[in-house]
Amino acid sequence: MVQTPSHISRATRLAPSPTGALHLGNARSFLINWLLARQNGWSIMLRIEDLDGPRVKSSADRQAIDDLRWLGLDWDHGPIYQSQRLPLYAIAIDRMIAEEKAYPCVCSRREAQLAASAPHAEDGSHRYPGTCRGRFASIESARKASGREPAIRFLVSDEVIRFTDGFAGAMQFDASDLGDFVIAKGDKTPAYQLAVVVDDTEMEITDVVRGNDLIESTFRQILLYRALGREASIPNYVHVPLVLGPDGHRLAKRHGDSRLSHYRARGVDSGNVLALLARWCGIADVPDRVDAAQLVGRFRLSQLPHVPITFTKENEALLLAGNAQ
Ligand SMILES: [Zn+2]
Repeated sequence: MVQTPSHISRATRLAPSPTGALHLGNARSFLINWLLARQNGWSIMLRIEDLDGPRVKSSADRQAIDDLRWLGLDWDHGPIYQSQRLPLYAIAIDRMIAEEKAYPCVCSRREAQLAASAPHAEDGSHRYPGTCRGRFASIESARKASGREPAIRFLVSDEVIRFTDGFAGAMQFDASDLGDFVIAKGDKTPAYQLAVVVDDTEMEITDVVRGNDLIESTFRQILLYRALGREASIPNYVHVPLVLGPDGHRLAKRHGDSRLSHYRARGVDSGNVLALLARWCGIADVPDRVDAAQLVGRFRLSQLPHVPITFTKENEALLLAGNAQ
C-alpha cells in the first residue's frame, strides 16, 4: 500500500459520461479506481461529465449513478455536474486567449480535415494544420471576417511531452503530432480536455485512474496544466488496459450485451458481476459472488494484466445464468 504522509490529502474522481450506459469495461476501470482510493485513503469525488451536448442522454446520469451504487461503489463528494460549471471553464479559456496561448479558429470540420495532411495513422483523426494561427487579432474580428462563431484552439508548441504513468511506466509524445486542438466549440461549449483540467485542478485531484484509450488526452491535458500555470497540480496518472471484444475491438453490441443495466434488469446478482470484474483485475481466488467491500485490500496494481481483457459471449451467458466462472 502507498504510504502518504497524513498532512497530504489525496483525492481522486469517478467521472462517468452520460452519453451511454456503463458497460463492464467502464465498470472494471471504476472498480480499479475505487479500490485504489479505498485502499490508500484517497477521497472520491463523483463528477458527471455531461458537456457533450447532443450525445448526452437524458436520465443517463441517473443510470450511471444507479449502476455504480448497484456495484457497491461509493464516493465522498458529489455528484457534481460539469454543465453547471460553465463560468469556471470560460475564465480559463479567456485567460489563455488573453495570454495568446489560444486563438479563434473559423475552419469548419471539413475545411480542417481537407487542409490536414494524412489522417493520423492510429485513429484516423486529422491533425489541424494551424490555418488560423495568427490570422485574427481577436474573436470579434474572426467573427466579422467569417460570419461564423469561432471555435477556440490551444496553440501547441513543438516539444516532447513526458510523464510517468503509475501502471504503464514512462510515456512520451511528440507534441507536434497533436496539432492545435479545440478547447471551446463555436457554441462556447468547453472541450472535454479543458473542462477536465479545470475541474481536476479546482477539486485538487491528485490521482487519476482511467482507461488507456485516454493516454493521448493526458498529453493534451498536461499542456493545459502548464498553460494555466498549474504544472505543480498535474496528478499522478494510472492508465489501465481496456476490456475488448474477442476480435480485439472496443466493446460493441456484436460482442454481446456488456451494459450493466442489461444484467441489473434481468435480476443478476451484482456480486456475480463484481466477481468477474475482480478476476479481470488480477485478484486471485475470487468466489462466485463477492461484495465490493470484500475486495478492499486485495487489489494490487502489480497484479493487473498488462494486456487487454476479453469479454466473451460465454461471460454474458454465465452471468445471466447466475455464475461468473
Ligand atoms: Zn481554423
